[in-house]
Amino acid sequence: MIVSATCKHCHSTDSLRVEDGPYNRWINREALVQDAFPDLTADQRELLIGHRGGWFVCHRCWDVVFADDDEECVSGDDPLTQTWDKPEPPWKDEPHD
Ligand SMILES: [Zn+2]
Repeated sequence: MIVSATCKHCHSTDSLRVEDGPYNRWINREALVQDAFPDLTADQRELLIGHRGGWFVCHRCWDVVFADDDEECVSGDDPLTQTWDKPEPPWKDEPHD
């Protein structure tokens, strides 16, 4: 069968052909991914795990999405950290009564 998963970051879809037998054992949680598919690369296993779990980030975006996630000293030039560092919106100053 063909397994596919869509990247949450760039929305591209990766697909992979696997054998039905190992796939069914794995999707029913009767086998670990590395036991059911010992010949797949790490990227291909990520695709399978993303397909089953409903959340997938492709290997091309992995470095972007997870880069410097737990670094204390992140430069302000990083567009990902800038979105988390927005100033307070002006409407928060309005009185409630
Ligand atoms: Zn991607």
